[in-house]
Amino acid sequence: MDCIFCKIIEGAIPSNKVFENERVLAFHDIQPQAPVHTLIIPKKHIPTMNDVTEEDDAVMAELFAVARQLAKELGVAESGYRLVNNCNGDSGQIVFHLHLHLLGGEKLKPLG
Ligand code: 5GP
Repeated sequence: MDCIFCKIIEGAIPSNKVFENERVLAFHDIQPQAPVHTLIIPKKHIPTMNDVTEEDDAVMAELFAVARQLAKELGVAESGYRLVNNCNGDSGQIVFHLHLHLLGGEKLKPLG
């Protein structure tokens, strides 16, 4: 499968990991958009949010649990942070392996 995040999971492409267990991996984004910019991904290849099923409920909850933990560890829990998922073309999704962006460490531009 030609998925860059699956290759990161396999170790075929290096990454700067900040969390790993059997189901979830988190690593720093290669082109950070904020002082803290971490990607949190399921090890299962799920292309987009549209492809999530009930069988993924546990791992989806775990992505958010890891995000909360990393926000604390990376020092942005109290100052504030944003979790983003891009889904399909209009959102700008470029990697079709589901991921949460954890962004913080500075005052982020308002979305609206
Ligand atoms: P998307 O637009 O799909 O939500 O965002 C994908 C993110 O993955 C982008 O922020 C991009 O910088 C990041 N990215 C793409 N390729 C790599 C890579 O090989 N390593 C890392 N660490 N991040 C990547």
